[in-house]
Amino acid sequence: MKVVFHEDFRPPYTSDPAAESGRMEAVERVIRDRVMWVQAIPATEEEIAAVHTRAQMERVRREGVYDIAALAAGGAIRTAAIGLTEPCFGLIRPPGHHASAASSWGFCYFNNMAVAMEKLYREKKIRTALILDFDLHFGDGTVNILEGRGYVTILNPTAADRNAYLKEVRHFLFAEKVDIIGVSAGFDHHVEDWGGLLTTGDYREMGQMVREAAGKNGGGCFGLLEGGYNHRVLGANVMAFLEGMERNHFLSCSLSFVRFLIASFVCYFFHSSVRA
Ligand SMILES: [Zn+2]
Repeated sequence: MKVVFHEDFRPPYTSDPAAESGRMEAVERVIRDRVMWVQAIPATEEEIAAVHTRAQMERVRREGVYDIAALAAGGAIRTAAIGLTEPCFGLIRPPGHHASAASSWGFCYFNNMAVAMEKLYREKKIRTALILDFDLHFGDGTVNILEGRGYVTILNPTAADRNAYLKEVRHFLFAEKVDIIGVSAGFDHHVEDWGGLLTTGDYREMGQMVREAAGKNGGGCFGLLEGGYNHRVLGANVMAFLEGMERNHFLSCSLSFVRFLIASFVCYFFHSSVRA
């Protein structure tokens, strides 16, 4: 599966937990050999201005984080574009779901999800979308920016019980047929993170639900990193979500093994016949 990333996401850019040293590396270590890396490129001013005010953009510039925030937003655009045809994940920071048009808080500056969705919508690549935000915190920025635009339905699950939570997610994902499903994937609701509710397996299950729902829709899907602050478990949680979301994960693994076997036999017979 393709994962959009950039080495500039590694160094801390502020002193908040989302920008903490080692956070990207904690994910990279676990997923490194299992994914195909795609380089993020910065969002243009015009792409950011499609959902943010000029004053907000100036404020972010004054705080000295414009470049990294624009790179995260650009990473989200790339992730969503790939997501149209195959599941894709954006390993990006700063996160974005607390960024509204003219303000932001909670370690966010530009709303990566809103920038990416709006770009797809304006380019007429999608007509409808769902956003599942399973971060521990309510994605107020995403709701403020996108809810009134008419093409997106957003869920921030509220169930306090694990099974009810998963049920709520499933019901939402399968209720409506849409062109794309975007996931604001924050992993801070994990049992060993701030929220203390969801298991690593639950992220795999939600990834599967997203893939199945997108498959049923004949549409796309993608995820963007939001929160997730326990570096000991963040990598495993991202990996579980990717495994769930990857189309025909087991099928593609077994297919590549079969291809490998066939190639080995072909080589063997070719060399035998050359020697003969
Ligand atoms: Zn959060």
